[in-house]
Amino acid sequence: MGKPTGFIEYLREIPSDLAPEERIGNWDEFHQHMSEDKLRTQGARCMDCGTPFCHTGTVISGMASGCPINNLIPEWNDLVYRGRWREALDRLHKTNNFPEFTGRVCPAPCEGSCVLGINNPPVTIKNIECSIADKGWDEGWIEAEAPTKRTGKKVAIIGSGPAGLAAAAQLNKAGHWVTVYERADRPGGLLMYGIPNMKLDKEKVVLRRIKLLEKEGVKVVCNTEVGKDVTAEQLMQDYDAVVLCTGATQPRDLPVEGRELKGIHFAMDFLTGNTKAILDRHRNGTYISAQGKDVVIIGGGDTGTDCVGTSVRHGCNSIVQLEIMPKPPMERAPDNPWPEWPKVYKMDYGQEEAAAQFGADPRVYLTTATKFEGDDKGQVKAVHTVQVKWERNEQGRFVPQPVPGTEKVVPAQLVLLAMGFLGPEQPLLDALKLERDRRSNVKAEHEKYTTSLPGVFAAGDCRRGQSLVVWAINEGRGAARECDRYLMGSTDLP
Ligand code: FAD
Repeated sequence: MGKPTGFIEYLREIPSDLAPEERIGNWDEFHQHMSEDKLRTQGARCMDCGTPFCHTGTVISGMASGCPINNLIPEWNDLVYRGRWREALDRLHKTNNFPEFTGRVCPAPCEGSCVLGINNPPVTIKNIECSIADKGWDEGWIEAEAPTKRTGKKVAIIGSGPAGLAAAAQLNKAGHWVTVYERADRPGGLLMYGIPNMKLDKEKVVLRRIKLLEKEGVKVVCNTEVGKDVTAEQLMQDYDAVVLCTGATQPRDLPVEGRELKGIHFAMDFLTGNTKAILDRHRNGTYISAQGKDVVIIGGGDTGTDCVGTSVRHGCNSIVQLEIMPKPPMERAPDNPWPEWPKVYKMDYGQEEAAAQFGADPRVYLTTATKFEGDDKGQVKAVHTVQVKWERNEQGRFVPQPVPGTEKVVPAQLVLLAMGFLGPEQPLLDALKLERDRRSNVKAEHEKYTTSLPGVFAAGDCRRGQSLVVWAINEGRGAARECDRYLMGSTDLP
């Protein structure tokens, strides 16, 4: 702990983002950097607690509390305070293969459980993490480090999202020959084709890291769907082990009247087509435009927020974002105490941008869609909505009930369904005859990652369901460790 009185002397400060009016004119990242002096001051606010809850990574009430990859946060806060950036980077890399990703997109459960957060604003852990990683790249400290010895073992990883990439990085470090198969035309999973460019730059940040992995010896094969272009049996024959990191990509649908109308899309189709158009520098058949349209986004979570930010940049005419849950409180509720993840109201970047453009947060709470209305060409023209109240049903479960008299009709020429995901796609899992859990995820215990098939491991969203980048990294690293143990009889991987 560099400065024992830092948490008393200094207030929390994060860099200001580019103003919404300015940033919606392009797809560039809008978070700005802070001066080194200011970052050191923020590092000085860390109290180096006896029990650093920020790096515990436990699950309380179903949500992460503390860092799921157990980042050594007090250690690197102290090193930043002392200006020892390179050592801070080394500490960060001990637990996190991709701090420049989490430093940008993690919701920061570490800050939710920061002890200072009990009665003060928490330490700016996420911003410090991002700054350490970015400085590492800027200074040329992050370089390819190929393993000095190879084991001769071959591992196939299916899926190049954060779980697959973390597993690849670790298994390569252990000396195995790693090949990552990805069906998309670019690697990165949802880092590439889910999270929009303004939150996480694809060329400058995502591909930069993947190119480094390739230099270190990882082979990345895109445009190859396992189960179609290569059979699962072939992989089992050709490789000593397989790690499944295929994500939870099955979107939840809303099968109400009018669902078949034109202009109603899953959020991921909208977001993927958009990022692809930016990267290809032209629009192909997958591009869906929100320009000049009244947009209704169904789902108030992060995916919905990304649809808001993307629609605003397209130049939409209006946005309404429907959320079936109630508006969260401004402060922690009594049943959501520290160090739990704080379930409080926040304006995310997309809502800020919509508010700047149209005058208000686009979210409408406790509301759902009951019907889509079309015109005579089969194109959606409106969404019928109703307010709901949550009541217990006969089985004692809380369910939404429509409130009579609250029906509305909202104009919409574009509807985006962002209501979460139902689990991994099943055909490949069927081909491998893998056991599933009751939510259709691959059955494998957390921290073990072994599936019902010897030599096949599962990590990330395909094992735990749609989650977070930081959990995917946690799982990819863990699956690599267990895979290495399986291949070698013992392992040095963390
Ligand atoms: P994925 O990232 O889904 O990667 C799986 C990959 O496997 C995909 O590229 C897929 O094409 C490939 N694949 C599937 N089947 C095959 C096959 N048969 N052959 C070859 N390849 C295959 N989390 C955060 O922490 N912060 C955020 O800001 C955030 N924003 C999000 C925004 C959106 C729109 C979405 C949808 C999710 C967001 N998440 C966010 C969640 C996060 O992105 C995921 O939890 C994480 O990417 C899961 O990683 P993964 O490696 O398990 O799977």
